[in-house]
Amino acid sequence: MNFDVMIIGAGPGGIFSAYELVQQKPNLRIAVFEAGRMLHQRHCPIDGEKIKNCISCKSCSIMSGFGGAGAFSDGKYNITNDFGGTLYEYIGKKQALDLMRYVDEINVRYGGAGTKLYTTAGTKFKKQCVQNDLHLLDASVRHLGTDINYVVLENIYDYLKDRVTFFFDTPVESVAVIDGGYEIRCKDASYTCETCIISVGRSGSKWMERICKELAIPTKSNRVDIGVRVELPAEVFSHLTDELYESKIVYCTKEYGDRVRTFCMNPKGAVVNENTNGIITVNGHSYEDPAKQTENTNFALLVAKHFSEPFKDSNGYGESIARLSNMLGGGVIVQRFGDLIRGRRSTPSRIDEAFITPTLKATPGDLSLVLPKRILDGIIEMIYALDKIAPGTANDDTLLYGVEVKFYNMEVDVNEDLESCLKGLYVIGDGSGITHSLSHASASGVYVARKIAARQD
Ligand SMILES: Cc1cc2nc3c(=O)[nH]c(=O)nc-3n(C[C@H](O)[C@H](O)[C@H](O)COP(=O)(O)OP(=O)(O)OC[C@H]3O[C@@H](n4cnc5c(N)ncnc54)[C@H](O)[C@@H]3O)c2cc1C
Repeated sequence: MNFDVMIIGAGPGGIFSAYELVQQKPNLRIAVFEAGRMLHQRHCPIDGEKIKNCISCKSCSIMSGFGGAGAFSDGKYNITNDFGGTLYEYIGKKQALDLMRYVDEINVRYGGAGTKLYTTAGTKFKKQCVQNDLHLLDASVRHLGTDINYVVLENIYDYLKDRVTFFFDTPVESVAVIDGGYEIRCKDASYTCETCIISVGRSGSKWMERICKELAIPTKSNRVDIGVRVELPAEVFSHLTDELYESKIVYCTKEYGDRVRTFCMNPKGAVVNENTNGIITVNGHSYEDPAKQTENTNFALLVAKHFSEPFKDSNGYGESIARLSNMLGGGVIVQRFGDLIRGRRSTPSRIDEAFITPTLKATPGDLSLVLPKRILDGIIEMIYALDKIAPGTANDDTLLYGVEVKFYNMEVDVNEDLESCLKGLYVIGDGSGITHSLSHASASGVYVARKIAARQD
């Protein structure tokens, strides 16, 4: 065998499994295969001047490369079982939290010291939310910020590079079962190992689906979250963001009983484009460095949809809605809340005259032509509910960018060790459909590394 353990994907799941394997078994021969580039070579060509919109690079530097989809993220490591994945269903709630705290300690040691750990414990907002029929979920969140998150990744890479063999710009094409292990095939070469960890994230969702079919690993469809990104003056949410940084609030709509939730809150942050399999959607991030902060706060409002019979393709449904916005707006559409509720499109002049400056250049348009009525009604209802705890949320000038879609990979059938039906083939992180966040994906990496190390004893 070329290696003892091969890891496919260098996102948080892959990085933390490599890191923990090095801690537990320093003599193991470990290789990491990554479709994208090394951290310092990752550059999105959008500069706002020559290149204004996504040009669909062959390998998207935002989603791929060392650090995975999380590399330029806001670096919010949520320590909770309430959201971010269902890892606890496999490994138990206590162990899941312990592993997330362990990941946090490593992040702090590798450059995150000095960043703040926020918590919802004992906060007055819980009561205030519930009095207005809103539900604040429990969590602690380490906010590294995009800048410190990058430093942490740089430091972890410096530590790993002499202990692990990295193959960058090396997408794995296929995985085959061989006698005593696995063979992975890349464009120019093949490699063998005893144990294989697959951690390909959301950008590897289609690839993962194919591999599961080829290796006859059972899967089941997962949900898709559809909605908008809200941007408003930072003052509107400052009482919440100053104390909690990120508040995950859930609302159950009166009209349909659907759940709408806030997601990925970025105080003084920026709204950004995201490219998933060539479809342009919206996301957001913020910086720890005050010099890079904006005057706006953004967060997503999302509604979950899950299809099972006869239509199972939840992601395909989300993709079609995102394609529609791309068709109408050439990318992401932006609309003032006041225009939306008056049933008129936003125009460039209405956006220019607003009392808020958008942080993303998007096409002014009409989101009611894109989002299904039920989803849009739920979002509008929640904006009015949020207005009660953060007055100003329902102002006419509040900006809504669409669409935001959270794709989840189909859930791969794994056991309590996160091992597939094939012995020695583990599937972790967002690629498994079990995790949807930095801390859960990282914790799943540490977990399998310990399981693999224990089998070597
Ligand atoms: C803009 C943005 C902001 C975000 N902000 C946050 C946040 O603040 N907090 C939070 O908890 N989560 C956030 N997330 C989500 C978070 O980044 C993911 O949950 C996390 O990165 C998942 O880790 P992972 O290792 O499972 O997968 P990924 O990070 O997606 O990494 C998978 C890696 O596998 C590689 N790969 C895929 N296929 C192959 C193949 N065939 N061969 C080789 N390599 C392959 C990819 O190139 C990628 O680098 C954000 C995501 C985005 C896009």
